Amino acid sequence: MLTFEKHESNVRSYCRVFEDVFAKAKNDRIYAESGKAYIDFFAGAGALNYGHNNDYIKAALLDYIEKDGLTHGLDMYTEAKRMFIDQFVSSILEPRGLDYKLQFCGSTGTNAVEAALKLARKVKGRTNVFSFMGAYHGMSIGSLAATSDAGSRKGAGLPLQNVTFMPYSDGWMDNFDTIEYIERILNDDHSGIDQPAAIILETVQAEGGVVPASPLWLKRLEQLCRAHDILLICDDIQVGCGRTGNFFSFERAGIVPDIVALSKSISGYGLPMSMLLLKPELDIWGAGEHNGTFRGNQLAFVTAKAALQFREDIHMDDLVRKHEGMIEQTLRKNIAVIHEQIEIRGLGMIWGIDLSKVGGSDQVERIIKGCFQAGLIIESAGRNNSVIKIQPPLTIKQENLQEGLRILEQVMLENLVSVVC
Ligand code: PMP
Repeated sequence: MLTFEKHESNVRSYCRVFEDVFAKAKNDRIYAESGKAYIDFFAGAGALNYGHNNDYIKAALLDYIEKDGLTHGLDMYTEAKRMFIDQFVSSILEPRGLDYKLQFCGSTGTNAVEAALKLARKVKGRTNVFSFMGAYHGMSIGSLAATSDAGSRKGAGLPLQNVTFMPYSDGWMDNFDTIEYIERILNDDHSGIDQPAAIILETVQAEGGVVPASPLWLKRLEQLCRAHDILLICDDIQVGCGRTGNFFSFERAGIVPDIVALSKSISGYGLPMSMLLLKPELDIWGAGEHNGTFRGNQLAFVTAKAALQFREDIHMDDLVRKHEGMIEQTLRKNIAVIHEQIEIRGLGMIWGIDLSKVGGSDQVERIIKGCFQAGLIIESAGRNNSVIKIQPPLTIKQENLQEGLRILEQVMLENLVSVVC
C-alpha cells in the first residue's frame, strides 16, 4: 500500500474502500496478489457487464494485436471501426428499428455527455438544460453541471451553470407528480426558469441510489419533450449495454430518445470507449467541432464488436432476466425481512438496498467493509451513501451470485442485529 499512499494523489477513492492490491481477474472473480479471491458485485461500476477478461472477447483482441492492427487512429477510417459500426447497426439498431448516427467521443463517459449537451444547445440555440435531482453524468465541467451531488459539485471550483434540476420520477418523490410539475414550469411564463434545449436523464439513477423510473413516467417525459420542442437525452452509460434486461435501458418504456450516450460496457472488455447515438437530423456538427485524440479507441472497436456477437451467442437478455428473478426474490425474502424499513429497488441486474432509515451511511460503510473482508466487492451509492448497490457482471455464474448474496445477507444480519433487537 505504501507506494500508493506515498505517491498517488489524495483524489484516489475506490482503493480506500477496497483495501487490497489486485493482480488478476476472471469473469466474476478478482484476485489479490496475496491470492485472496473476491466475488465481484461491482463490475467496474458497470464497465464489465461481460465479466473480467471474457475469453470470447479476449480471443478477438489478441488476434487483432497479433496481426498488428492499428492501435491508434484518431477518427480516421479504419477496418476496426467499420467492423464495429456494421455490427452495431445490424445487431442493435436495425432489429429495433432505430435510426441513429454514431459519434465516437473521447474515451470516457463524461466526454460523451459533454458532446450531447453541446450538440443539444447548438441544435436548439438555448443554453439551459434540465437534469434531475439524484443524477450523475460525469466530472468534467459541463457534465458536472448536470450532476446533482453536492460533494462532486464542490470540486468544480467555479459556478456550475445552465442546468436546472427537476425532481425525478414519482417513485422517489412519493405522491408527487413530477411530470406535471415540469409541465407547469414550462407552461408558466413567470416560472423564472429558461426553456431548456434538452432534458438529460438516466432511466435508472445508478449513482443516485438505484432509482428506476417507471415506464409510464418515462413515456410521459418523452411526450412532454415532444410537446415543448425539447430534446430528450438518455445517459445510458451505466445502465445500458444489457444491464436492465434489454440492450438499451429505455426499451422497457417504448421511448426513443433523441440522443443516447453510451460508454462503460460498450467496449465489452473494460477498455475506454464512449459514443453518442443521435437522430440524423440533429447531426449539424461542423468537422472536428467535438474533437479529441482518443476518439475511437481501435482496440475497443475490436472488443466492442466481439461483445455484441457474444451477447447474441449467449442470449444475454434472457440470462439477465433469469438472474433478475433470482436476485429480486433473494433480496425480498432474505434481506428485506431483516428490518421493515429496508427498501429494495432495482431491475435487471442492478439493485439497491436502501438503508437510509436503518443506520444510513455508517451502517452501509460497515456492511461494505464486512463484505469485503468476507470476499465480496460491493459498492455504496445514493444520497449520503446510504444505499448498497448490487451490480455484478451479467455473466456471473449462478453459484457465485448466490454465494455473494449469501455473504451480503450474513454481513447485514451481523451488522443490523443491534438495530433489529
Ligand atoms: N453517466 C453515468 C450515468 C455514469 O454512471 C457515469 C460514471 N459513473 C458517467 C456518466 C461518467 O462516466 P466516466 O466516469 O467514464 O466519465
